[in-house]
Amino acid sequence: MIKTIISIGLWAALGWLCGAWLGPHTGWGVFSLGLVVMILVSGVQLSRIGRWVSDIDAPPPPSVGPWDEILAPIYRKLRKDKQDLALLNRHVDGIMLAAEALPDGAITLDEAMHLTWCNQTASDHIGLDLKADRGHSIFNILRAPEFARYARQTSWPGPILLHMDKPGQEKTLLVQLTRYGVGQFLIVTRDVTQVEKLETTRKDFVANVSHELRTPLTVLSGFLETLRDMPEESLSAEQRLRYQTLMLEQAQRMQAIVADLLTLSTLESSPHAEGEPVRMSTLIHTALQQGRILSNDQHVFVENIAEDLYITGIETELASAVSNLLTNAIRYTPKDGTITVSWYISEGGHACYSVQDTGIGIASQDLPRLTERFYRVDRGRSRATGGTGLGLAITKHVAMRHNAELTIHSRFGAGSLFSLIFPPARVSTPDQ
Ligand code: ADP
Repeated sequence: MIKTIISIGLWAALGWLCGAWLGPHTGWGVFSLGLVVMILVSGVQLSRIGRWVSDIDAPPPPSVGPWDEILAPIYRKLRKDKQDLALLNRHVDGIMLAAEALPDGAITLDEAMHLTWCNQTASDHIGLDLKADRGHSIFNILRAPEFARYARQTSWPGPILLHMDKPGQEKTLLVQLTRYGVGQFLIVTRDVTQVEKLETTRKDFVANVSHELRTPLTVLSGFLETLRDMPEESLSAEQRLRYQTLMLEQAQRMQAIVADLLTLSTLESSPHAEGEPVRMSTLIHTALQQGRILSNDQHVFVENIAEDLYITGIETELASAVSNLLTNAIRYTPKDGTITVSWYISEGGHACYSVQDTGIGIASQDLPRLTERFYRVDRGRSRATGGTGLGLAITKHVAMRHNAELTIHSRFGAGSLFSLIFPPARVSTPDQ
C-alpha cells in the first residue's frame, strides 16, 4: 500500500513540476499518464500472476513495486510448504520401507474390515494381491472359518493359528488382530510352519523314544517279577539262565538305544569342527574286521580300498558312519550274500565310500524316509538283528557335518548301494 501511495505521490510531484514549468494542462497530462502506466503495469502483472497460479510449482513472475509485497510472502509460504511436504513424504517413504522390511506380514483394514494396505510378506503369507484386493472385505480374502470366528470377537487378547492349505503352499500362520487409530484394524501374520514342524518332530521323537524303551523295559520287569514271585525250587537252573539271558538282551538293547541317542545329541550340539586329516582306510579295515565277526562267515566280502586317501574330519564320527553302513549291509543281507566295500577317489576329485550288498533291498516308497529317526522298513527284522533305528540318522548327520552326501540306491529284493560322497575340499593324500 505504501509503495502504491509513494508511486502516486511521485507521479503527482512530476505532474506538479511539469505544470509549474509547462502549464497546468501538461502537468495534469503527465499525472494522468503516470496513473495509466501504473494501471497497465498492474494489468500485465495480474496476467503474469494468473499464468503462474495455473502452474504454481514454477518460480513466481518477477514483480516490481507493490506486487513484490504481495507475491514474496506467498512464494515464501509455498516454498516452506513444499519443503515440509518433501520431508513428510520422506518420513512416509521411510515408514513404508520399514513396514515392507518387517519379517512379519502386516495388513491394515478400515472400520468395515476392508483391506486398505498390506506389505509383501503378508501378500506372500495369505496370497493376496494388494491392487486387486484393496477395498475388499478381509472375510472374502481370508476365507478360513476359524479366522472369521476370531475376527468377529470384540477383543483379541492373543493370536490364532491358521493352517493355509493351498496346494503346494501349505503353511501355518500365527495371526494377531489389533485395533489402531480411529476404528482401524491391523493384522500381523507370522509364518510358523518350521516352528510347528520342529514341535511335531520333537513330540514324535519323545513318543518314539518312550515307545522304543517301553518294550524292553516291560520284558525286563516281567522277568524280574517272575523271578521274584516264583519259589526258588520251581525254576530249573536252565530256565533261570534262559530268563537271565533274555533280560540281558533287553538291557543291552536299551543300552544300544541310549548310546545312539547320546551320539545323535552330541552330533547336534557340538560345534561344526573342521577336524584333521583322517586315514579312512584304517577306519574301514577296523569296521571290516568287526563286520566279519558279526557276519560269522556267512557272507562273502569284496574289498576295493584306496589306502592313502585322507578326509579332513572327526575320526570318531567318520568311524561311526563307516561302520553303520557296513553293519546294515551285513544285517540286511541273507546268508551267502556278497558285500562289496569300496573307498576311492572319483574323477571330479570327490572321495567315495560305498557299501554294496546283495541283500533284501528296500522298496522305493521307503527310500525317502530311511534316514528319519526310528524309521525301519521291517521293525521285527531290525530288532532281531540288534538295530535301534538310529544308525542311518546318525550317518546322515555325520555326512552333513562333513559336507558330504549320503546317497542310497536300492531295489526291493535285489540289494542296496549306500554311498558317502565327500567334497574335494575335504580330500587329501599324503603327498599333498
Ligand atoms: P536299524 O538300526 O533299524 O538298522 P538304520 O537307521 O540303520 O536302523 O536303518 C533304517 C532302516 O533302513 C532299517 O531298519 C532297514 O529297514 C533299512 N536298511 C538300512 N540299511 C539297509 C540295507 N543295507 N538293506 C536293506 N535295508 C536297509
